[in-house]
Amino acid sequence: RGFRAFSVQSGLKIEGVQDIIAVASGKGGVGKSTTAVNLAVALATKCQLKVGLLDADVYGPSIPTMMKLDGKPEATEGKKMIPIENHGVKCMSMGFLVGEKYAPIVWRGPMVMKALEQMSRGVDWGKLDILVVDMPPGTGDAQISISQRLQLSGALIVSTPQDVALIDARRGVNMFSKVEVPILGILENMSFFKCPHCGEPWYIFGKGGARKTADEMGLSFLGEIPLETEIRKCSDEGVPVVLSNPDSAVSKAYGDVAQKV
Ligand code: ADP
Repeated sequence: RGFRAFSVQSGLKIEGVQDIIAVASGKGGVGKSTTAVNLAVALATKCQLKVGLLDADVYGPSIPTMMKLDGKPEATEGKKMIPIENHGVKCMSMGFLVGEKYAPIVWRGPMVMKALEQMSRGVDWGKLDILVVDMPPGTGDAQISISQRLQLSGALIVSTPQDVALIDARRGVNMFSKVEVPILGILENMSFFKCPHCGEPWYIFGKGGARKTADEMGLSFLGEIPLETEIRKCSDEGVPVVLSNPDSAVSKAYGDVAQKV
């Protein structure tokens, strides 16, 4: 019932931006940022769209590392920030705005919302077909405000097959439903690990959990991304796997997600 007060999407569109989609997870550490980055790059390179990536994970921004970006955004004459571009994607992140790389971000809610407003509407995105938002993990005030203020076209939910992650993923789905944001589907990450010696898949976090949850909730299941050293390595090096290894099975899986979205 408490949610009802929030249930009307009150945001305005961002100038020049056609659609905004959120990549969200109930739980942290399940691969939300990895998905956001690979999806954004796949949309730009495989689907030939004009793409932006907004790192709204203000307390733990990982986009600068994953997209190999550094420096501070310049401003236009109209005092809008110019996004920093790499791999064909225009990016904005809190990581660009705080002075020191390892400085903790200890802000309270209203300041976070102000920063997010600046990082979304205070940016000269130019013409974008799609802006991908890497959401903060969880289902609190910040997530609800972002969903409303940015007029999201849809949300993609990332989860591992593990019960503790799926329970939180359900919370995420329910939160978006309450604020009337359509769910694009659930993507399972870290679905299995293929043994490098015998090739046998190991279902470390359980098998088929996200597909089952998607079925139970009447949502689309967007695919399975395995646990792979290459994905982690590419993220750490700042060249997402869809670019550094475009013909791999994983890149194809991300390409499929981009097509579905
Ligand atoms: P979140 O945004 O949900 O907190 P991240 O995308 O930052 O999660 O991922 C957490 C860690 O797991 C990162 O070090 C990332 O490189 C790694 N990771 C994510 N997905 C995979 C995967 N499919 N295979 C291997 N490592 C992964």
